[in-house]
Amino acid sequence: MCCIKAFVFDITISERFEHLDTYLVTGGAGFIGSQLVEELLKRGVRVRVLDNMTTGRATNLAPFLADIDIRQADIRDADAVRAAAAGTDVIFHQAALASVQRSVQNPLVTNEVNVTGTLHVLEAARAAGVRRVVFASSSSVYGDTPTLPKIETMTPEPLSPYAVSKLAAERYCLVWAGVYGLPAVALRYFNVFGPRQDPASDYAAVIPRFASAILSGRRPTIYGDGEQSRDFTYIANVVGANMAAANAPAEVSGAFNVAAGERITLLELVAHINQLAGTNLTAIHEPARSGDVRHSQASIQAIGEMLGWQPSVSFDQGLRATVEHFREALK
Ligand code: NAD
Repeated sequence: MCCIKAFVFDITISERFEHLDTYLVTGGAGFIGSQLVEELLKRGVRVRVLDNMTTGRATNLAPFLADIDIRQADIRDADAVRAAAAGTDVIFHQAALASVQRSVQNPLVTNEVNVTGTLHVLEAARAAGVRRVVFASSSSVYGDTPTLPKIETMTPEPLSPYAVSKLAAERYCLVWAGVYGLPAVALRYFNVFGPRQDPASDYAAVIPRFASAILSGRRPTIYGDGEQSRDFTYIANVVGANMAAANAPAEVSGAFNVAAGERITLLELVAHINQLAGTNLTAIHEPARSGDVRHSQASIQAIGEMLGWQPSVSFDQGLRATVEHFREALK
């Protein structure tokens, strides 16, 4: 694993939250960020959100508005980021343009937001003296290396501008840990899914797209033959990994996979969703898209050893909850 120092610690220590602490969630109005906000509020800490609402949605934060401090600002604005970080203890840095396709269409903007924006967050974190930065990295950094499962020590082979931006940002986080002593953990999320994920955007992920299509009686679209596979990771597991990372001992900095550690093909996924929806809709196939990887599956050994984390919700449980969510949303 790519860690500054190996350290195994008691899970009870990882679950200790100081209630006077303030947590900044960049991208807190997004799919993953808003779920982090919800969990932090449950744990009784103070929460601040920085988001420019590019892909974030007001409805994601609607239930928590009275309990959080929201700053509508852009992470490309260094002064705004510095002001948002002042007085905070931990930063969950989720804000990004989170799409391979968007990065292929406009690589410069992806770089400005995902790389320069991350530098602003790191510099603001340093100025504020925060205890730790937890960065949302991505499985895309591995690219199409044929070996499975993906292990953190493998040489990254990013295939898209998005993947390069995530790798650069992740490396900046680890350099800030090594050079400036700012503890930082980069979590390489593998295909996250769950309630609140936007099925309607041009850049929507496959599970919300497939679920909302099938539940509406439409055939889902697969780019390619459907034999490509993914390690789909339920949102509650991603939230748990962030909480474990936030409370890691100061000695622990590094990049860790966050995943289920299993993979299924897109054709199998369509069959699962059909089964849950009580339908039998076959996929429409479109040409494969550039920048997409063929197979993806993580080893989750390192994060287990270093952060004491493992998934608590199975893929089947998560998919059932997600399909139920979209069924309700469509009513
Ligand atoms: P999302 O698009 O729902 O959330 C991203 C949030 O960042 C949005 O609220 C958006 O408005 C905000 N944002 C975008 N540009 C901004 C800017 N310039 N300034 C301030 N805020 C800005 O996406 P998500 O799925 O919740 O992803 C969260 C993070 O996790 C991203 O960093 C993404 O790259 C990473 N990630 C996601 C997945 C996944 O499967 N969803 C996988 C790997 C990594």
